[in-house]
Amino acid sequence: DAEKQQNEALDTVPKKLPRGVVLGPDGKPCRSCTSFASWAAMTKRQPSNISSTTPPASAAASLSPPPNCPPDVDELGRSSWNLLHTITANYPVSPSPQQQHDARSFISSFSRLYPCWVCAEDFQQWMKDERNAPRVSSRQEFGRWMCEAHNEVNVKLGKESFNCDRWEERWRTGWKD
Ligand code: FAD
Repeated sequence: DAEKQQNEALDTVPKKLPRGVVLGPDGKPCRSCTSFASWAAMTKRQPSNISSTTPPASAAASLSPPPNCPPDVDELGRSSWNLLHTITANYPVSPSPQQQHDARSFISSFSRLYPCWVCAEDFQQWMKDERNAPRVSSRQEFGRWMCEAHNEVNVKLGKESFNCDRWEERWRTGWKD
């Protein structure tokens, strides 16, 4: 079956892994933790969205998993941020104690179940600092907290920080200008 074939393929992974391939707790390459570019380099498969004349640098930059395939770390991340920010955008302006409990409990479970384990560990570590504990007492607080959490990852990955004064325009109302 498909899972058996996948496991066999992973068992024959080259001993020297290409840069960027992250292993999972089972010692096998973790797809949800690895970019598609690194994954393709490991399996030495020519990705279908890259032509043989594409220069290697731009090839790596434009590499994304083919449709209907398991997500790589970036696609999983984008989908997850879509969900997380959209949850905050639809969170009540004045949540009940039960809704606040649900929000905390969701974030806590999410941070333990997130399939990219390196991402999950860093996220949990960041939240352990009491200054970064989830703030869920209003939509504004929760939205801003999520923006700060996302910025923490942006900074770690060398990306630009997002202006958290504008989180609601990006995720709820649409841009003002
Ligand atoms: P994304 O970062 O996915 O952002 C999507 C959109 O959100 C952007 O286009 C922008 O419009 C908006 N946005 C950006 N920043 C903010 C913000 N601060 N607030 C509100 N909106 C914003 N990847 C790794 O390689 N290593 C990791 O350790 C890692 N940890 C992660 C931890 C978590 C909890 C999550 C959910 C994802 C993690 N990722 C990690 C994935 C990573 O954050 C990105 O999703 C991925 O690199 C794709 O980035 P992107 O540039 O397409 O945009």
